[in-house]
Amino acid sequence: MSQKFAGVKGMNDLLPPQIATWQRIEGIARNLFGNYGFSEVRTPVAEDTALFVRSVGEVTDIVKKEMYTFDDKGGRSLTLRPEGTAPAVRAYVEHGVAATEPLTRWFYLGPMFRYERMKTGRYRQFYQLGAEVWGSADAATDVELISLCHAYLQAIGVPEVVLHLNSLGDEASRPAYQETLRAHFQPFLAAMSEDARGTLERNPMRLLDSKEEALQAAIASAPALLEVIDDASRAHFDQVRRLLDALGIAYVIDPKLVRGLDYYVRTTFEFIYQPRSGENALGTAGTVCGGGRYDGLVKGLGGPDKPGVGFAMGLDRLAMLVGALGQGRAGGPQLFVGTFDGPLRETAIALVMRLRNQGLMVDFDPRGGKLGRQNERADKVGARYFAVYGQDEHARGVLRLKDLTLPRDTPDDHPGKYQDVPVEQLASWLLTRKEGPP
Ligand code: ATP
Ligand code: MG
Repeated sequence: MSQKFAGVKGMNDLLPPQIATWQRIEGIARNLFGNYGFSEVRTPVAEDTALFVRSVGEVTDIVKKEMYTFDDKGGRSLTLRPEGTAPAVRAYVEHGVAATEPLTRWFYLGPMFRYERMKTGRYRQFYQLGAEVWGSADAATDVELISLCHAYLQAIGVPEVVLHLNSLGDEASRPAYQETLRAHFQPFLAAMSEDARGTLERNPMRLLDSKEEALQAAIASAPALLEVIDDASRAHFDQVRRLLDALGIAYVIDPKLVRGLDYYVRTTFEFIYQPRSGENALGTAGTVCGGGRYDGLVKGLGGPDKPGVGFAMGLDRLAMLVGALGQGRAGGPQLFVGTFDGPLRETAIALVMRLRNQGLMVDFDPRGGKLGRQNERADKVGARYFAVYGQDEHARGVLRLKDLTLPRDTPDDHPGKYQDVPVEQLASWLLTRKEGPP
């Protein structure tokens, strides 16, 4: 009896053709984030549930309805991480990192889990590339993070993104603003969902982030926090803007940008994919990066009083864009060796393995068969050269390499179509041709 299974809804398999794109954008991240002074951290996928309730905030979408929470066999409530900041802060505090360095820059890359309504660019397991800096309250730190995002999006080839920027002021300016908002939303009470009413009661600022249709007009006319923030936060915001101007990074001020987590103060930002023409491949899920400052969080999670700022990018959305823009192709093997059935087959296969062990990408068809078929296979996998290993080649100690990048109808006497290379020089010969255009 056989039984067929499907993957969990909202959790995707990434198959090899997609992985080529993923590896490319992950590789660029490791280099660029390294240039900016960030070190990688890896935390577990599950944490104590209370960590997220406490840090993300009880009145957020994440905590209210999106967490994968379960009891383990020891009766502990665990949650699959819905975001990366809280785990990173937990690790930073738990390992006393602040005691050994005044300034810390970390980045992480890994799967996150949210029980969400799925559509394009919105999944239940998705990947984030994020960065955090602890120990600097200076606007220069906010800007180095924004600059890093900006440079990264350019480097992977996602050009048409718009930077949205806002300041939420400090926590002291919050209560007065919450009251103003409560008064503002009061007349819309009748049209609101039960859920939104609860939010209005407990944390009206969260309503600005709501996607509820009936609320959009009220959100649009709501007073902006940016107008009433404290002087120190305003000066900080002006500094952020001046530094961005100096770097030539364009932005739009977006006074409604409160972001989905509770702990933000001062700077918040998002990068949103907005192509100037044609269809938006991400539809309504156009935000590819979100971040901001969260100066009270480290202390709130039992750590030292260290300011923090960070961002997280959605890699699924970026990989989709990069894939759609056709920039993620992997290279094929440098050489494909055709083999004959018979006593020389072992020698040929040994040659393939030896070349692989010497750092070359070399392929062959383990099923053997007709040489024409093997040549077709070499074409199919995108090999640069095809060479047959038979009696004659073995006797002469030479492989005749056929350049597969030339058009099919190239005459056999065309210079460069065939080249004889002694077997013992093959590795070094191929290595010198590894880089650069064919
Ligand atoms: P949204 O308003 O779209 O729900 P969010 O505020 O919940 O976004 P963040 O928590 O800021 O998102 O996460 C940072 C980034 O991670 C997002 O900008 C997005 O690119 C990506 N992301 C968030 N949730 C998902 C998801 N369910 N599937 C894929 N990517 C996601
Ligand atoms: Mg969300």
